[in-house]
Amino acid sequence: MSSLQQDKDLLIQNYRVRGLIKDEIAFKAFKEVPREKFLPKNFQSSAYSDHPLPLMNTGQTISAPHMTIMILEYLELSPGLKVLEVGAGSGYQAALMAAAITSDKKTGHVYSLEIVPELVGFAQKNVEETGYDDRVTIISGDGTLGYEAASPYDRIILTAAGPELPPPLFKQLEIGGILVMPVGTPRMWQVMTRFRKNSKTEFSKEVLSSVAFVPLRGQYGI
Ligand code: SAH
Repeated sequence: MSSLQQDKDLLIQNYRVRGLIKDEIAFKAFKEVPREKFLPKNFQSSAYSDHPLPLMNTGQTISAPHMTIMILEYLELSPGLKVLEVGAGSGYQAALMAAAITSDKKTGHVYSLEIVPELVGFAQKNVEETGYDDRVTIISGDGTLGYEAASPYDRIILTAAGPELPPPLFKQLEIGGILVMPVGTPRMWQVMTRFRKNSKTEFSKEVLSSVAFVPLRGQYGI
């Protein structure tokens, strides 16, 4: 067994013992997607150390493995759903979500928006090389405006921290859908928040955990 595989198995065992993650769909997706293939070459050997890693010199980071799996759980993913991600970065979270919304019978789709041109190309290359490009579409642009063409979405995830729920994203969320985002000031702790859309104009809100994400840019960013 390769040492990367051993590191990955240890990490999974550790999450199970600590009871940190309970969702089996999330575990299955984490097992399936090779995180190392979404990292710059010089960081591939640290793929299963549980911390965030830098994405080249862009100032952006790929989240720690436990956070990427917890996001799957927070989103209550199931096969067949349509998901929008703001902040494609490496494309890893998009691939994880694509794995989680695919079963033998049902295939969902992930649309992932990225504002940094270099990362649009990086994410695209990574999803192609790992074979997730049939279920993941990487799009260049300001994610706070959403992606109307494929809306409405069952789930929306923001992987960058913003001051409030961007109105276009609320509009593009299906009624009954879930949006998860880190809300708060950048470079400090933020509050991972889950919004459920109850009607065209109403939502309920739950606080999930304390997190540290890079700032959300764009029109409704910081
Ligand atoms: N989900 C990524 C990591 C995200 S880091 C992964 O799995 O690797 C946050 C990303 O959000 C960065 O790549 C950053 O450039 C992007 N971002 C920040 N503001 C954005 C916006 N308004 N629209 C789209 N992408 C944005």
